[in-house]
Amino acid sequence: MELLENFIDGGWRAAATELTLNVLNPASARVLAQVPLSSAAEVDQAAVAAARAFINWRRTPVGERIQPLFKLKQLLEDNLGALASSITNECGKTIAESTGELRRAIENVETACGMPVMIQGTSSEDIAAGIDEHMIRQPVGVAAAITPFNFPGMIPFWFLPYAVAAGNCFILKPSERVPITSQKLFQLIQAAEFPPGVLQLVNGGRDVVNAILDHPEIRAVSFVGSTSTARYVYSRAAANGKRAQCQGGAKNPVVIMPDADMETTTRILADSAFGCAGQRCLAASVAITVGDAQSAFTDRIVATASSRKVGYGGDAGVEMGPVISAESKRRIERVIAKGEHDGARLLVDGRTGSIDGYETGFFVFPTVLDRVPPHVDLARTEVFGPVLSLMHVNNIEDAIALVNDRTYGNMACIFTGDGSNARRFRYEVNAGNIGVNVGVAAPISTFPFSGWGESFFGDLHAQGHHAVEFYTQTKVVVERWPKDWSRKF
Ligand code: NAD
Repeated sequence: MELLENFIDGGWRAAATELTLNVLNPASARVLAQVPLSSAAEVDQAAVAAARAFINWRRTPVGERIQPLFKLKQLLEDNLGALASSITNECGKTIAESTGELRRAIENVETACGMPVMIQGTSSEDIAAGIDEHMIRQPVGVAAAITPFNFPGMIPFWFLPYAVAAGNCFILKPSERVPITSQKLFQLIQAAEFPPGVLQLVNGGRDVVNAILDHPEIRAVSFVGSTSTARYVYSRAAANGKRAQCQGGAKNPVVIMPDADMETTTRILADSAFGCAGQRCLAASVAITVGDAQSAFTDRIVATASSRKVGYGGDAGVEMGPVISAESKRRIERVIAKGEHDGARLLVDGRTGSIDGYETGFFVFPTVLDRVPPHVDLARTEVFGPVLSLMHVNNIEDAIALVNDRTYGNMACIFTGDGSNARRFRYEVNAGNIGVNVGVAAPISTFPFSGWGESFFGDLHAQGHHAVEFYTQTKVVVERWPKDWSRKF
């Protein structure tokens, strides 16, 4: 059984620990590898190597710093199939979904290659006679990212390429539930020939996270995961004087107006609610139908949910894979039971099916509950499984009030043929990513991934210009030269 390693100071190193976890294929429960639960000592080795590498890396011209990223882009393209299989095997999603997340990763590498332009500062001449003022951007030093299980191929790239292109050194702590893809990504990173210490991988769980949060050399921390951990990471990082951006959980509502195209809306929403087995932070979780949309949408989503093909994500024709773990499956099944107990009507029950040849897998089938009371747990807390709750209201005012009556703010969508409904929704809704006739409103890499409320702690988000600002500190120079010719005037 393969025991995964850390990548520290330019080389692969076995973690000095006896503590390991089994990494499972969630479709079969078969053990794929063992991941070490590294200690604070490994974080210290990585941070010290990064701080040493930073001295030369920040002096390396930005045009040279992006050259290994160009190589990495090509290596990612060349190894797309193998990486997608790795994601499917440890995370459970279909090959098409795994390939899709890798395309998003590559897109972020491409955007970060624009760093020579993005990192430029600003200048004003003669802010007083003969005095000029310049704002320049300098890297912050050593940065780290702590990532979740649901996008092992994409989420590290919301941070990694921007951090290093901006002149920082970077440490990744991937989810201990899906560490194999990171191992493969770092083999490509090694082949791309970044200098030793610039990019490092430390496997582990809470001890590694706490060591990152407390290490004095680490100046910036990015986190993606559940809201409770995001809040904790943000507080501890801030208490230690670090800058932090922490993306949390979600409960994403979608409003369906009577003038929406019901066939297309149902297809798009089924992909949003049940794609990646509902384990997307941008999964539609609550569908609010307005007026006559109720029966048209309800009938269609019941038919679509009941016929979705569930199975091992590597098999042809499969539209939805398993959830990540046995514990996750049990938790989701409990949430469904509690929702029914709290008054919802179960229209499609995903707790009973099994897959031939994969009887030990962690499968939950698409589930639809109707007339979900707005104040019960099912309506308000994140399920992170293929479960769609239906609610009904009479007008757009009530729909927007329901959308805004929640603590999360990751995404909200509206389906309508009417521009004034769409504009009103976009204007009034409290969420950072808005979809108009779109079911997964994921910003491309040049835009910030703009969670609000309990879906995000911090101010600068991942991707694009926000990432450039997060990974640089501004320095303002006010400059006067006594012999400057302008003083003669
Ligand atoms: P998680 O919070 O359990 O784990 C995320 C990371 O934190 C992992 O690397 C894990 O090792 C570490 N961690 C977990 N518990 C910890 C603790 N007590 N102390 C220190 N570190 C800890 O999240 P997950 O289950 O891997 O991912 C699913 C969650 O991530 C969902 O809530 C989902 O909505 C969220 N998510 C959010 C976004 C977003 O953009 N907002 C994107 C993807 C996933």
